[in-house]
Amino acid sequence: MDLLEDYPLQRLNTFGLPARARYYVEAHSVDELTEALAYAGARNHPVLLLGGGSNVVLTRDHPGLVLRVALKGVELLEDTPDHCLLRAAAGEDWHSLVQSCLQNNYFGLENLSLIPGTVGAAPIQNIGACGVEIRDRLDSLEALDRSTRKLVRFSNQECGFSYRSSLFKEALRDQYILTSVTLKLDKIPAPVTSYGSVERELEAMGVTEVTPNDVSQAVCRLRRRRLPDPAVLGNAGSFFKNPHVQNETFEELKSRYEDLVAFPETDEGVKLAAGWMIDRMGWKGFRSGAAGVHTEHALVLVNYGGATAEEVLKLARDIQHSVKGAFGVELEIEPRIY
Ligand code: FAD
Ligand code: NAP
Repeated sequence: MDLLEDYPLQRLNTFGLPARARYYVEAHSVDELTEALAYAGARNHPVLLLGGGSNVVLTRDHPGLVLRVALKGVELLEDTPDHCLLRAAAGEDWHSLVQSCLQNNYFGLENLSLIPGTVGAAPIQNIGACGVEIRDRLDSLEALDRSTRKLVRFSNQECGFSYRSSLFKEALRDQYILTSVTLKLDKIPAPVTSYGSVERELEAMGVTEVTPNDVSQAVCRLRRRRLPDPAVLGNAGSFFKNPHVQNETFEELKSRYEDLVAFPETDEGVKLAAGWMIDRMGWKGFRSGAAGVHTEHALVLVNYGGATAEEVLKLARDIQHSVKGAFGVELEIEPRIY
């Protein structure tokens, strides 16, 4: 285990916030994870886990150990004519895995193309995009119990997945380190094209016989057009989740805002497009100091360079306040605040 001191984290979080770690370790194996946990445990150092740092807001220097999960490796566990089971280590890059699956004709992840971050963090918030979530493809995962330091297997059902969340973000928060994820993928293509913007992009590309590769390309094209590249403009993706409201609330809001954007979720309620409400309140393109709301996407807060966490969180609170005032709806912050 290579222990570093007073380590800068600015390049390790896609928002580019200037925090430092008192101690820092990059773990390449389960043994190194165990060793790092033992080291921190013996000294009562709090442990903060990082993958790609694309879903965190670092508000201060971390007084203990920052442990970056860098386990690598992809293994084919089962291969039948119609499906395969693939195990990927937690430190693998998510988008590279999606691309290599497509190259090998393993289908089902294409709608999740170009999501930044690691494989190990993907189940934490049940990553989702364009009508697909990782829970649709996850067979099981392995995780290291942070207190017993034993490996535990969780089936899909046991992960408690929900919209942009799982037990690992809620009841089991900070209790496990995910070490690998096993995905069940199709060998026979069944592209998911029903999502509005993907359908339109495929049309614009002139595709008629849609392949999974086309879907991946369409998703990448629309994401590149609308989302800021963290390498150019710091951000953590969508800053707020889309809120769920009951049908009565939706009807009442619709009577006041005719063009309100919402999608049916259950018989009782709908998902409101948070980005639409934020845009409607005039925030798109707003800038305060070095923090702002992206010019192309009202759900994405950005760092124009040198933003502090206080600036970002103040902007987030102001947006929450204005949306609550107009729509009576609470916007929940999606990234984890440290
Ligand atoms: P990190 O930010 O490093 O960590 C996130 C959380 O998981 C932290 O609490 C961390 O402690 C914990 N964690 C990390 N690794 C592990 C592990 N191995 N075991 C246990 N806990 C761990 N998300 C979507 O769902 N859909 C999108 O379409 C999407 N698009 C995005 C676009 C952009 C431009 C950006 C910047 C972000 C986007 N995100 C999206 C959010 C983010 O990419 C995902 O949530 C991603 O899975 C985070 O991975 P990460 O490795 O960067 O996690
Ligand atoms: P979009 O297509 O402009 O859609 C705007 C919103 O409407 C999205 O939030 C989406 O909800 C919802 N929506 C649109 N069509 C839908 C449908 N057919 N069924 C259900 N809901 C629908 O979205 P975008 O901002 O360009 O992003 C494209 C995809 O990437 C979205 O799925 C989005 O979630 C994902 N993304 C996520 C993050 C993140 O950090 N979490 C960042 C960027 C993009 P959903 O968000 O539930 O899909």
